[in-house]
Amino acid sequence: MTAGAVAAAPVTSPLDVERIREDFPILRETVNGRPIVYLDNAASTQKPRQVIDAIVRHYERDNANVHRGIHELSNRATDAYDAARQRVAALLGITDTAELVWTRGATEALNLVAYAWGMNRLRPGDEILLSVLEHHSNLVPWQLVAQRTGARLRFLEIDDQGRLELSMLDDLLTERTKIVSLTHVSNALGTVNPIREIAAKAKAAGALMVVDGAQSAPHLPVDVPSLGADFYAFSGHKMCGPTGIGGLWGRRDVLEAMAPFHGGGDMIEWVELESSTYAPIPAKFEAGTPNVAGAVGLAAAADYLGGLGRDAILAHERALVAYAVQRLREIPDLQLLGPRDLSERSGVVSFTLADIHPHDLATILDNEGVAIRAGHHCTQPLMKCLGVGSTARASFYLYNTSAEVDALVDALHRARGLFGY
Ligand code: PMP
Repeated sequence: MTAGAVAAAPVTSPLDVERIREDFPILRETVNGRPIVYLDNAASTQKPRQVIDAIVRHYERDNANVHRGIHELSNRATDAYDAARQRVAALLGITDTAELVWTRGATEALNLVAYAWGMNRLRPGDEILLSVLEHHSNLVPWQLVAQRTGARLRFLEIDDQGRLELSMLDDLLTERTKIVSLTHVSNALGTVNPIREIAAKAKAAGALMVVDGAQSAPHLPVDVPSLGADFYAFSGHKMCGPTGIGGLWGRRDVLEAMAPFHGGGDMIEWVELESSTYAPIPAKFEAGTPNVAGAVGLAAAADYLGGLGRDAILAHERALVAYAVQRLREIPDLQLLGPRDLSERSGVVSFTLADIHPHDLATILDNEGVAIRAGHHCTQPLMKCLGVGSTARASFYLYNTSAEVDALVDALHRARGLFGY
């Protein structure tokens, strides 16, 4: 297969993937002499020319610090930075742009809530409800907060398909529950959680609802405010944007009532030696010189995804996952993890193959130019629940093709042969 080429497609997609692949320069790279088959999109996605160009253009033409200078370049940078917030907000259905706080990514967004809300408000005996599916980013910050405040962590469990045991909710949600923080989509299994339903129950119980959207913002046509949550965290690099930029959407009244997270320049209104007053949201949570080029790059990514159509991206991924699951089932001794009903999962396919260590599998596949992820996927407690040390994970995005699924399956057959199966 040549770079950019698409084999006879057993997958019906609303996207013109051949054309889309032309936008991604890195897909023309070779690895070990073979065209790259990039199936590690849940870890980070590749960037289209439009995003790369926007960042280069920013540094070549508009670069300066924002909100400070009274000169032309600072004004241009400020305009681009402010417009970027609107463009990213528009993609996510956020109409009040003050509710979108820039962060370094989902991890920092979740820490912001844990520290600025949790650390200040939780008391001994209060409860934080998480699930065993959570990425370490939505687990460790809450552990830190619980250790310092005396709050207690509770956990929703999963069934044998990696779906949340929703029947536990009625028992777990009590007047002690102050925060419910759950992933929208599992990065390890692809499970899509019924967040709207859970958010409604959490709110009815008087708890704050936090959504880890790191794996939903890139893949699902999410209208963030309508999820019924209080917070939604996401990362730019998982949705065709640059690294080092992401965001936290928070309900205006909740953000306004919160103390700042970091202190420094730009987040203040007035500073005295002993105390300060703070800027209105979102600036209150954005101390220091922001990642202006990152915001501009992420806005270009938002325009790109919006241009392709969020529903079309989802339909493409669903078709590809259905094809991948069908082909992977042909491989003897391959065990697929996650929901069997494909409408309950996103573009992630996690599996084990006989007793071949997933790291060995990933290394053999890499020799063939196929990039997958192997390991615990930053979900060690989940691996323990599933009774596996690690899994192999192929994760798809808008530029992947059925030919790449075939390349994955062929490479897995060869790996099996190498191990004498
Ligand atoms: N949550 C989930 C579900 C994720 O998949 C990831 C990234 N693997 C994160 C949080 C953390 O994102 P980041 O490392 O970009 O902050």
